[in-house]
Amino acid sequence: VSAQDRVDSLRAHLDEDGVDAALISTPANMRYLTGFARVFDDSIAGAAVIAPRYQRFYTDSRYIEAARAAAEGTMWDVRQQRESLFTEVCDDLKADGVGTIAMESSVPHSRFVFISDRFDGRVVISDRWVESLREVKDAGELDAAGRAATLTDAAFDHVLGMLRPGLREVDVALELEVYMRGNGSEGLAFEPIVASGPNSSKPHAGISLREIEPGDLLTMDLGARIDGYCADLTRTVVVGARATAEQRRIYEAVLAANEAGIAAVRAGVSAREVDAVSRDLLTSLHLGEYFGHSLGHGVGLQVHEGPRLAPRSDDILRSGSLVTIEPGVYVPGFGGVRIEDLVAVEERGSRTLSRASKDLIEIV
Ligand code: ZN
Ligand code: ZN
Repeated sequence: VSAQDRVDSLRAHLDEDGVDAALISTPANMRYLTGFARVFDDSIAGAAVIAPRYQRFYTDSRYIEAARAAAEGTMWDVRQQRESLFTEVCDDLKADGVGTIAMESSVPHSRFVFISDRFDGRVVISDRWVESLREVKDAGELDAAGRAATLTDAAFDHVLGMLRPGLREVDVALELEVYMRGNGSEGLAFEPIVASGPNSSKPHAGISLREIEPGDLLTMDLGARIDGYCADLTRTVVVGARATAEQRRIYEAVLAANEAGIAAVRAGVSAREVDAVSRDLLTSLHLGEYFGHSLGHGVGLQVHEGPRLAPRSDDILRSGSLVTIEPGVYVPGFGGVRIEDLVAVEERGSRTLSRASKDLIEIV
């Protein structure tokens, strides 16, 4: 699938909804539609305007050289913003006689208001037009995510070799980051989570200066990013002692929930059903009350995208989607365990991209 096919799919939406042009301005969606490599970062100011007969990409002087190079040989008409990006975009739309534009609902409210004011015509919401296309990855996207997952696994393995009591959470997080970036990760998919001992019961604990103590559960949630595509991996280990019976009981339960969730993944299955498989298993082990978050989420150009694997999700899993399966049990004051894998949805099942060991690792 080429980036031009993505643009053409978006044009089909325009046609169906009687909209003259789509104005796309969130970085991940622009990157997806243009297919431009080495142009986008999270703070890029840009706009992609797609109409039946043209497709334009606007950005400012900081990005223009890279954008022009990336656009060579494509259908994109790259335009440099002089003063105010969205003023110029709106003026061009008016000059073209465009009557209705569609915008993403995820743009900042101030931008939505600005464009609605400046553009004389009708503004509608193109909700999830691009996001829905992004949910189904092509072979090239799956390959990039697979390489990001492999690098993430390697970072986990690397850090296992240095874990010991006395090390601080920040030291571990820094080592993960240095390893991933030093081995080809473009920035990181997200700030790693390193949560030790009592902090491990807080699913998204901020990294602290706390020193790891003997017998701590240590949860690490990390992801590299390659060619724009994110990985997302969580493992929990025990540091400085053998696992206690209770730690082992919780670990085995979370692992069983992770494996049952993965086994339920297949194209055509409702995401809610997959969530229920893992959740019901934990509930049957009297641990359901300690699993408060959803089972998983889509991953791609953004680390959190569709589909949602959650109790109230209406999403249906599609072949080519990349999702996480990440059950957890968090017991306040005791600690927590989360095991997260990155999984590609296939017609008859799934393929797990994360290969890091899921045996209960005790570092003594
Ligand atoms: Zn994660
Ligand atoms: Zn995740």
